[in-house]
Amino acid sequence: MTAIAVVAGDGIGQEVVPVAQEVLALLHPEYEFYPVEIGYGKWKKTRTACTPDDITLLRGADAILFGAVTTPPAADYRSVVLQIRKELDLYANLRPVRGEGVDIMVVRENTEGLYSGIEWQEEDRASTLRVITRKGSERIARTACRIARERRNLLTIGNKANVIKSDAFFRDICIRTAEEEGVPYTTAFIDALTLDVLMHPGRYDVIVTTNIFGDILSDAAAYLVGGLGLLPSANIGDSHALFEPVHGSAPDIAGQGIANPVAAIRSAAMLLAHLGDTRGAALIDNALRLTAAKGITTPDTGGTASTREVGDAVCTAIRRLM
Ligand code: ATP
Ligand code: MG
Repeated sequence: MTAIAVVAGDGIGQEVVPVAQEVLALLHPEYEFYPVEIGYGKWKKTRTACTPDDITLLRGADAILFGAVTTPPAADYRSVVLQIRKELDLYANLRPVRGEGVDIMVVRENTEGLYSGIEWQEEDRASTLRVITRKGSERIARTACRIARERRNLLTIGNKANVIKSDAFFRDICIRTAEEEGVPYTTAFIDALTLDVLMHPGRYDVIVTTNIFGDILSDAAAYLVGGLGLLPSANIGDSHALFEPVHGSAPDIAGQGIANPVAAIRSAAMLLAHLGDTRGAALIDNALRLTAAKGITTPDTGGTASTREVGDAVCTAIRRLM
């Protein structure tokens, strides 16, 4: 029995996740889905956004389908996503950016770097400790090499080693790993790299980089393929895997029924591929293509359809392709 934990979360997560779940249930009626309430909405009711029991529920799943959680600017509120990534040791954040003339996989280190969570504030300054470890760098580099081999076998190591010592450490470990693994690589400074990815996306295959740089690079690359509403992601560890849209809870459009469900549906496709159903994943991709070709899209991508209408059209296309 395959068990999928479903965390809709906050904001538009509540709108796009049910659509993605419906797509999964259509292809795999035998899957067991169980909801886990996590997020700011829960915090407002209980003062805890995610309990140890919630983490236990997530641990018990074969895969986690995740929407988005709002992180309010309150000093005592710890980001739930960061907490889950750490607890389940989801060290690799995979963000495919795919579209016309663009097929890039951003492999972002997900557990350390500037998102170490080691932070303190004094009267006149605030500090965050950027931690890069050998273990953390090696395992993300190995993951990137494995993915590169499955793709066009070209690895770019994004870094800022010219200015930041911990980045030189990261870059050198990535270089050594790529050499050991026999994967051809280049290195590039992250600022120039971001511009070049936007100007010449066809030159890139797999880009491995540290936590915050990967976050920014993949959001910027979303520009190439129609915006945040389309980008899926996977958070992978050695024992657990969580799939979520790159976008957040988008409180500005929440509750209106116009959120683009494509990023969440594509995340569901990544979930299937992870569980070994590459055929199902390809089927979802085809259904999404057919739906977009018919002009059935939400307002963020120039259409007039609602979240529900896009979801229904994708499900209809899947039934036809099955
Ligand atoms: P969070 O704090 O949860 O990250 P946010 O305010 O940063 O939320 P994002 O979800 O990251 O919001 O998105 C930024 C903007 O992009 C939103 O204001 C929203 O208008 C738009 N956007 C994001 N996702 C979608 C989507 N699925 N469909 C339509 N528009 C979206
Ligand atoms: Mg955001």
